Amino acid sequence: MPYPSIIRGWNCILDWIAPLRCPLCGERLDEMPACRRCRLPDPALRRRQLRLDRRGPFLLLAGGDYQGALRRLVHAFKYHADPGAAALLLAQARLVLPARLLWDALVPVPTPRQRIRARGGEPVAEFASRLAVVTGLPVRRVLRRAQATPPLAGRGSVERRRLVRGAFRAQGAAGRLLVIDDVATTGATFRACRRVLLCAGAVSVDLLVAAATPRRLF
Ligand SMILES: [Zn+2]
Repeated sequence: MPYPSIIRGWNCILDWIAPLRCPLCGERLDEMPACRRCRLPDPALRRRQLRLDRRGPFLLLAGGDYQGALRRLVHAFKYHADPGAAALLLAQARLVLPARLLWDALVPVPTPRQRIRARGGEPVAEFASRLAVVTGLPVRRVLRRAQATPPLAGRGSVERRRLVRGAFRAQGAAGRLLVIDDVATTGATFRACRRVLLCAGAVSVDLLVAAATPRRLF
């Protein structure tokens, strides 16, 4: 049995034992999965941008703005490992993907080791694994943290850029890669990842996040 089929089967059993519920309103999610009361996933929220830097064009895909219901879902997933939040964020992220996938692999942004210990898991890697199941794209862990960085939340773009400079290393990158992260704010983390992935041999590097700050993406 191929690996995604095993996961699908396991998820069906889990749904039967403990049906998924929306963390925002408590309603049981339907099969999509979707919350009718919160009207999620919502195609109107998704954001796609084609951007250009000195290394070439790249795509920025976000499930939606990091505010309101989406922000609460990200928090429920990231800090409380809520399975309903994970299912809704995945459904929202699928809406932003084009019908014909443009990538060879998904590359999760690695979580700093101390935060993995504190949270008891790695939400971004888990999100990438779930996306891999629904897209059929493999996950390649070609990024690693070269040095510890303090939490970036609440910091400005200049400080973020300084903190993530040299924070990542890439090894064995190849083909067209879609970097996966939970939230994009200033884009400093993505820029640092994109730079090392292209230097390590990737042909192209795009970004998919569950949510992005509600302003023009970096
Ligand atoms: Zn709901």
